[in-house]
Amino acid sequence: MLIVESAQTLSHVLKQKIEDEIGADVTLCHSLAEARLALATYDIAVALTGHEIPDAPDGGILALLGEYEVPTILLSGSVSDELRLNYAKYRLADYIQKEGPSALPTAVAAVDRILTNRSVSILVVDDARAARSDLTSFLKLQNFRVIEATTGMQALDHLARDPSIEVVITDYFMPDMNGYDLTKRIRLEHGSDRLRIIGVSASRDRSLSAQFLKAGASDFLYRPFVPEELQCRINNTVETLLQLKRLRHLAEHDPLTRLYNRRAFFERAAQHLRKLERKSSHGAIAILDIDHFKQINDSFGHERGDFVLKAIADILLQSCRQKGILAARLGGEEFVLLLPDVTMPEAETFCNDLLLQVRQCVVGAGETAVPVTASIGLSRLQPGEPLDNQLNAADQMLYLAKSDGRDRIHSDSSITIG
Ligand code: GH3
Ligand code: MG
Ligand code: MG
Repeated sequence: MLIVESAQTLSHVLKQKIEDEIGADVTLCHSLAEARLALATYDIAVALTGHEIPDAPDGGILALLGEYEVPTILLSGSVSDELRLNYAKYRLADYIQKEGPSALPTAVAAVDRILTNRSVSILVVDDARAARSDLTSFLKLQNFRVIEATTGMQALDHLARDPSIEVVITDYFMPDMNGYDLTKRIRLEHGSDRLRIIGVSASRDRSLSAQFLKAGASDFLYRPFVPEELQCRINNTVETLLQLKRLRHLAEHDPLTRLYNRRAFFERAAQHLRKLERKSSHGAIAILDIDHFKQINDSFGHERGDFVLKAIADILLQSCRQKGILAARLGGEEFVLLLPDVTMPEAETFCNDLLLQVRQCVVGAGETAVPVTASIGLSRLQPGEPLDNQLNAADQMLYLAKSDGRDRIHSDSSITIG
């Protein structure tokens, strides 16, 4: 990002805080000439700038940043009503009052938000071109990725094809279906924990807001918008989504290994099984259990034991990701894998390679190097069987692998008919 500010102390403190708190790369400029060079040299994602700098006292810096289409936050000496109402017209993403104790944290938060917005996709649905493009330009200034639809059907089509869309802003009056019906249709497929809907309308009908909210929208705004209100409401919506995403991640992942936890596995595996059955595809389920892990803890300490768990999880994350294999920590030192669209020989080859990687993984060095092996129970997925039964089958195979001497696979492919 770029900071353009003639006040030395302020600009240095800002740079430091942004680097520390957001981890963004900051280029600091004190003049228009320096900013011009920086813009020509680097790909700048967001700029924080004063209005008057020595070689451009009349706000020429804003024109320059506009030329490069860089989302810009203005550090303003004073905030007038005029600025408050029209900052979007000046093509600003936001403005911040320079003086006062909250200036620094507000600036850092604004930069963070504009950078985050890059990864948020918003679908704007409106049949009226002028209204749609006004809103779209505003959202682009805020650094959002924007997709446009002119009808309700087009909107549903975009949503079906593009799972990255997290916010829909829809008008009420549209020719094929109104925003209220569109909201209801969207809610049949998409919950409010993953997709937020904001209704908008220029109508004078005060009941529209309640209708939208009842149909499943999260917010409603009457046109014409007050830019600052629109921005705050969209920010709140995005913030709620991010918080939900963080909570979902915490609820679904094991904090030590970063793998899915048992609960997330059961939810996801059930979906995988339904999909496989629809396609009449083969698949396999495997349980991997570290050998003599209790002994590892006893000999090398619990902390080293944790390192071993992480090392095994990293092998699983690496090996499973590209292959569409669902991997999770079932509990303790037990991991589960759901392998879709594989024959049993393919599953066996894959599992053998995992055991090889486990043997080769190095935790600690020299005298303290921990020798690690694991055993795997592998079972062919049986169509129509509940997940519990499928897991039990793999668990029985694991038991045999352990009693056969560990560091090996036992598979039911040889004893399954068909
Ligand atoms: P086997 O080869 O038969 O699987 O023997 P094992 O020692 O691996 O199996 P057992 O079930 O007897 O012991 C599992 C141990 O895993 C006991 C428990 O203390 C340890 N364990 C479970 N969760 C964790 C963890 O999060 N961190 C560490 N360090 N140890 C854990
Ligand atoms: Mg074990
Ligand atoms: Mg165990």
